[in-house]
Amino acid sequence: MNILRSEAIVLRRRDFKERDLLVTLLTRDRGRLDGVAKGARALTGRGAASFQALTHGMVFFGEKPAGGLVSIRKLDPLPPHFTLQPDYDGFLLASYFSEWLMLCEVSPADAERWFLLLLGGLEQCLEAVTQPDSANPGAHAQHNPEKPQDADPEIGTKAHRLALARLEFELNLLDCLGVQPKWSRCVGCGRVLFSGGPGRWAPAEPGPFQLDAPSGVRCPTCALPPHGRGSRHAFPLTAAELGLIGALRDPDRMEPPPPAPGALAGLERAVTGFLEFHAGRLPRSLALLPPSSSPKNS
Ligand SMILES: [Zn+2]
Repeated sequence: MNILRSEAIVLRRRDFKERDLLVTLLTRDRGRLDGVAKGARALTGRGAASFQALTHGMVFFGEKPAGGLVSIRKLDPLPPHFTLQPDYDGFLLASYFSEWLMLCEVSPADAERWFLLLLGGLEQCLEAVTQPDSANPGAHAQHNPEKPQDADPEIGTKAHRLALARLEFELNLLDCLGVQPKWSRCVGCGRVLFSGGPGRWAPAEPGPFQLDAPSGVRCPTCALPPHGRGSRHAFPLTAAELGLIGALRDPDRMEPPPPAPGALAGLERAVTGFLEFHAGRLPRSLALLPPSSSPKNS
């Protein structure tokens, strides 16, 4: 039997028979791959650890002539090692990312794109949980001292870095699905929504804007009336929220994106809602993720 290999990430593992594992991998070369790792449950030490969910490594497998399940020989871990299990929040977010990769159609022709989507998301999770909190965590608290319950996770904290990692992953997922809205122009009248020049990701008007699934961003004039036709999939966006998206999508962006207090929670609702419209469903693990802030006005 031909032994093939590919860089891969473990999406899911289940016990199979007495000593085996059923493993679903996202591979860089072929997309999703289901296989049996014979005897893997009896492995100890490094061998046993290598089939944990989110393990990144080089998989060696023999392809069955008739297709179906492949026979997985071994998985040699590669850096970065996503040892996220000790951090509950980081692990939950990483699990949410990997569940998207179970839900979406991953065509083998596009395998590398999807693989890099997940690898990048996991790298950001790892970075978010290992970076020390910034020396100035109180900076945002001054922004809205009266209503701390409406605040984002404070800028510079792990919760804030994880919330940004989620937003970036979801925006990159829109690219992979081929449904990225054109953020810079109104889909109704075609007008450019950003001011241009220095700080060019500041919206040209105060808003409110609207993210309308499936078409895109609407300016205040073209916004769909509430309760009207199509409004069920229209999400309000403030100028700060649209500005943060612009900054995140900027190809010349300097790291990190500028702080936009209060912008993450509204964006989460809008972008996740937009994704749900296109994907037809959402990962079940979404219910386990903490919201970026308490919902406004509810
Ligand atoms: Zn318009």
